[in-house]
Amino acid sequence: MKKILVTGALGQIGSELVTELRKRYGANNVVATDIRKNESQIVQSGPFEILDVTNATAMNNIAKKYEVDTIMHLAALLSATAEANPLLAWNLNMGGLVNALEVAREHNCKFFTPSSIGAFGPDTPKDNTPQDTIQRPTTMYGVNKVSGELLCDYYFHKFRVDTRGLRFPGLISYVTPPGGGTTDYAVEIYYEAIKNGKYTSYIGAGTYMDMMYMPDAINAIIELMEADPSKLKHRNSFNVTAMSFEPEQIAASIRKHIPDFKLDYDVDPVRQAIANSWPNSIDPTAAAEEWGFKAEYDLDKMTEDMLMKLKDKLSVKVS
Ligand code: NAD
Repeated sequence: MKKILVTGALGQIGSELVTELRKRYGANNVVATDIRKNESQIVQSGPFEILDVTNATAMNNIAKKYEVDTIMHLAALLSATAEANPLLAWNLNMGGLVNALEVAREHNCKFFTPSSIGAFGPDTPKDNTPQDTIQRPTTMYGVNKVSGELLCDYYFHKFRVDTRGLRFPGLISYVTPPGGGTTDYAVEIYYEAIKNGKYTSYIGAGTYMDMMYMPDAINAIIELMEADPSKLKHRNSFNVTAMSFEPEQIAASIRKHIPDFKLDYDVDPVRQAIANSWPNSIDPTAAAEEWGFKAEYDLDKMTEDMLMKLKDKLSVKVS
């Protein structure tokens, strides 16, 4: 990976991935792109281009201009937003992906795109969900993710494009707010704990979902992309996870630092239905065996770091 193009770079993952990639591979070697522009570090600390991923010609031109050898394709509509606008989700998630794969094929690039626990469905075994199992999701996001996994494997087998992917669980971070996923409650709860000492969850008590702290997700992307290809039996995509919890457990972890923290519920039927169709916990053994995946953060370690970093961030904003 000498020259890396990142799409959707201003989102929750991209904003932290670009920072880490620029640290490791050099600021000028990471070309950040997004459909919008803002005043963030990502725009200012290295090359940045406006790019709508549904525009294949524009993507090809940027790849050519910077002579990229790696594409990390992040631009997408997430689960809850996709369910509200399924046709837009299909056009962006599938149209953007096939454009990015074509650019990778033409320029002989390595290729990464995230899948999700949303690629599983109600018929999938719910506990310790295996790497290879039934994938019949009932959401548009899930349909996009399974189709995307298959399409990336197709480009590997048919055109020898070096495609690699991760099935991410809910990602928790303090840098950039999440973009409309079903697991966003597990980020909001920390902000509200600090600001108001209480949180009303749209996900019901007893609903388990996999989660991971963003530093582990960023490391996983880079480790997978650096992995020896001869060791990879799977490609698109690997189960990865760091923890599985339900809302009462994250509240209990927060109470170790904010003892009076209160949690109540006002369940959103749409996002609850999505959560109910997903696994309680997935099995990351294949990722561990094939390229050494290991998460550093469990729930309590993540809670301690999130609360510390968010206190800093929110007090900086107020002053
Ligand atoms: P996000 O919603 O935070 O960011 C997406 C970015 O894409 C935004 O900056 C947006 O401006 C940009 N974008 C939207 N339409 C675009 C277009 N037409 N052209 C170019 N850019 C466009 O998403 P994220 O959380 O960073 O997710 C990135 C990827 O990771 C997605 O494929 C998502 O499905 C996957 N994923 C995320 C999570 C999570 O918890 N965040 C979990 C599993 C999988």
